[in-house]
Amino acid sequence: MQIKRLKLSGFKSFVEPAELRIEPGLTGVVGPNGCGKSNVLEAIRWVMGESSPKSMRGAGMDDVIFAGTAQRPARDFAEVSMLVERPTEEVSGDVALAPPGDVEITRRIERGAGSAYRVNGRDVRAKDVALLFADAATGAHSPALVSQGKISAIIAAKPTERRAMLEEAAGISGLHVRRKDAEQK
Ligand code: ATP
Ligand code: MG
Repeated sequence: MQIKRLKLSGFKSFVEPAELRIEPGLTGVVGPNGCGKSNVLEAIRWVMGESSPKSMRGAGMDDVIFAGTAQRPARDFAEVSMLVERPTEEVSGDVALAPPGDVEITRRIERGAGSAYRVNGRDVRAKDVALLFADAATGAHSPALVSQGKISAIIAAKPTERRAMLEEAAGISGLHVRRKDAEQK
């Protein structure tokens, strides 16, 4: 799976709609302290379904919405869209959700009303988005996403947490999501 484009609006410091194109190869995000570099990484994690406000450096999930400054009023929603290219081999049980090729995943949160997800413009469940990324051996909890200061946390992780990381890396997390789903039915 390759990330091709990220669109942000009202997300943290990205109050005005912003579009970031990510070309193949290595991408670096540079800028002075506090300019929003980590916010870009958090936007990627968030649109993939992050459900813990703490890992978004907030107290509640509404904290991802632009909170306002002395000059600008706060926003009442935040939206992040991520365009990815999915190769055929990553599309397993969810062909109905989106065919291989370019897929746009959108998450929107409204103040006090929670999050909603869309895939290629169609309303979907959070679970569908989790599955889509799990099948590509990635997602909000992918060990490939290492936040600032998280390296020491990984070193100190419990064996069960370390196992979850290995399972993500091995690409079998999607199977666990499906098993949990089947057990609930
Ligand atoms: P560093 O180089 O120090 O790691 P950075 O470029 O990673 O900095 P970020 O942590 O991404 O910077 O951005 C922090 C900025 O985002 C702060 O100025 C903070 O006020 C702003 N910010 C975070 N959440 C919100 C929000 N909900 N509304 C408005 N601004 C926000
Ligand atoms: Mg940072």
